[in-house]
Amino acid sequence: MQRASRARKNYSLAIVLAALLLLCGGVWAVRVDAPRLTVENIQETYSLKGSWQFLPGDDMAWASPDYDDSGWGSKLVPGRWDKQGYPESNQFAWYRLTLKFDESLLADRGNFSHLGARIGQIMNAYELYAGGEFLGGVGKLPPLSEPDYDRTLVYAIPASAVAEDGTLVLALRVWGGSDFALSHWGAGPHGGDFRIGDYALLLEASFLSQLPGLLACVLFLGFGCYHIYLYRRNPQIQVYLWYGLLALDIGIYSLMTNQWRYSANLSFLTFEKIEFVAIYLVPALVIQMFWSLLDLQIGKLLRIYQSSFVVAAVLIVLVPGIDIHYYTLEPWQYWIVPLLFFIPSLVIREAYKGHPEARTVLAGVMIFLAACISDLMIDLAGWTSARFMPLGFVAIMVSMAISLANKFTTVLNDLEGQVAQRTSDLSTANRQLAEVARRDPLTSLLNRRGFSDEAQAELGRFVRTGREPSLILADLDSFKEFNDQNGHACGDYVLQKVARLLGDRVRNMDELARWGGEEFMLLLPETSSEGAAQAAEKLRSVIESHEFEYDGLQLSVTMTFGISTFRSGETLEACIARADAALYKGKEAGRNRVSPDNYSGLTVIG
Ligand code: GH3
Ligand code: MG
Ligand code: MG
Repeated sequence: MQRASRARKNYSLAIVLAALLLLCGGVWAVRVDAPRLTVENIQETYSLKGSWQFLPGDDMAWASPDYDDSGWGSKLVPGRWDKQGYPESNQFAWYRLTLKFDESLLADRGNFSHLGARIGQIMNAYELYAGGEFLGGVGKLPPLSEPDYDRTLVYAIPASAVAEDGTLVLALRVWGGSDFALSHWGAGPHGGDFRIGDYALLLEASFLSQLPGLLACVLFLGFGCYHIYLYRRNPQIQVYLWYGLLALDIGIYSLMTNQWRYSANLSFLTFEKIEFVAIYLVPALVIQMFWSLLDLQIGKLLRIYQSSFVVAAVLIVLVPGIDIHYYTLEPWQYWIVPLLFFIPSLVIREAYKGHPEARTVLAGVMIFLAACISDLMIDLAGWTSARFMPLGFVAIMVSMAISLANKFTTVLNDLEGQVAQRTSDLSTANRQLAEVARRDPLTSLLNRRGFSDEAQAELGRFVRTGREPSLILADLDSFKEFNDQNGHACGDYVLQKVARLLGDRVRNMDELARWGGEEFMLLLPETSSEGAAQAAEKLRSVIESHEFEYDGLQLSVTMTFGISTFRSGETLEACIARADAALYKGKEAGRNRVSPDNYSGLTVIG
């Protein structure tokens, strides 16, 4: 137990350390400049990241490999333009890169027949030329002006693009977008990979680079659906719903930031709107999920804060075009900063207080926080590290999944406890019911059914031991008349009193029962007919001599007793029938007497 909790502590510590490393990694990555590469071998792929020749303006002559760009400035690829861009050239600018192939390749032009280039994300639209030939592009340049800046593509470079002397000139004709868009986000090549080499390898690499994101997306969507299903099955665990919705939302967001999204045939604008709505909703769902997980109430101010994120998402949907995104994204990024402190401090506080779920999710929250900060710094402070957000999402999802499993287990244990309690209550009630069914409510003596059970058991003992039991059936004399004279309530009182008088005077091992209205049955184990007759006589005289006091009246009753003694092989019913017959004879003979079943009318006692 202790070792387990220490292991869990070590595990949490490791995750927090990993989060810190991640953050440091982000800082470190900012400082590493992309190396400038020259192509020497086309069997592999080479990064084209680094400094390209750069000139604002637009002239189709700049696509030509013969054009002399030595007088141009240079610019890093990838790297954003500053926020005013180049309005004097209608936000057009060109990038050129001259590559030189190794002499050894020139003998065979076939060496250049599998060339390709991978071009990363360029804002807001571009065209690519190789050796002066137009290869394609993403988005539409003015006058059509259709931004499409998140798509990376692999282009096949024709062998003819490589000059006789082995030089290859790549030229990018870039349109930065409207002045308005630029003023918010800058423009130019802003992300993704820039690479040249074997076309098939480039395609494969680009496919592989998008796989983890696609897997994460499938994971999130699967988690989301699964937890919404769990919520439908267990509506009392509300956090399943919020977790499910958050996972779905993140799943959709992951797909929108992945090149696989282009397999759906939607417009760029639609993709972007889905992406922004998904990311804008994350804080609202995160608040809902954490507060639900930690069993806390969302206060009024927090509810307003939370709603603001929903409002932003609705605006993205309702306002046509993409400009609304430029208006809202930066404020949104600043607006979530409080949450980055708020949620971790809340989780730490609850974990410190001993909330088990807070402890479980703490590590995940810390990694998520590190990823958020690193990502925000990329956008707000110009860091150029990789984006760790997907990792952050995975961390939070995994820790949440563990936590929800714990929650489910707790609910299940509670439920099991409740079931055990109810089962025990039920069996107690059953026992009570069974006992009630065996007893007569007026006298609390055994009733006919209870008596029969006991008598059967005694009969079994008789078979084993051979010592016979006897039955006495006792009936109040002329009790109908008694009732008529003194009232039914008085009759009831007498019945109760008689039951007590008889009960007090029999042995512990004897079974006394109320057989019918005013009839009592007595089973005397291991008692001969003589012994039973003596016992009956004692009882008869006790009843006869007792003065019943009711409502100021002194009353007396008598009883007649029929006796039978078990014969071997006889059933309970047969023996009872003999006692009944004996009782009948006793009544016939004048009542208030003991009548054995061999009664001949001669041995009248009393
Ligand atoms: P006998 O001497 O032949 O036994 O005459 P009896 O009147 O006692 O016999 P009978 O079978 O005719 O009547 C039985 C009476 O016992 C009828 C009913 O008024 C009375 N009795 C039966 N059960 C109860 C009861 O629970 N409470 C009261 N107060 N009276 C009962
Ligand atoms: Mg009677
Ligand atoms: Mg009777």
